[in-house]
Amino acid sequence: MDNNCIFCKIIRGEIPSRKVYEDEDILAFHDIKPVAPVHFLMVPKLHIPSLMEAGQGHQAVLGKILALSGKLAQEQGAKDGFRTIINTGRVGRQEVYHLHVHIIGGPDPLPAMLKR
Ligand code: AMP
Ligand code: ZN
Repeated sequence: MDNNCIFCKIIRGEIPSRKVYEDEDILAFHDIKPVAPVHFLMVPKLHIPSLMEAGQGHQAVLGKILALSGKLAQEQGAKDGFRTIINTGRVGRQEVYHLHVHIIGGPDPLPAMLKR
């Protein structure tokens, strides 16, 4: 836990969120500024700042997030697919330094991933 981390505060219930899913390892909640009809974030409860700091000890929780993402996305209405995004560090334009997976469903179809 990081006292100054906004997502740790959400996990501790100190800042409200619209919860999608919670268990002992993971919290999922709607993005406050959605870019799509379905846009929620999945975070490990453990404070891992970014994928740059992720290591072997985090394999289980990171795998758990991905393994659950499809079920939650479909429950939230992304019936025909969605995009997962993990922004990492300055180059990845990460804004919140608590590792999170964006689950983005729509618009249908999403634009190409990156311009070639
Ligand atoms: P990024 O770090 O660039 O991957 O994006 C951080 C995401 O967190 C943005 O999409 C924000 O809209 C979202 N966000 C920031 N604060 C909150 C909050 N209090 N509740 C929900 N989502 C948030
Ligand atoms: Zn945190």
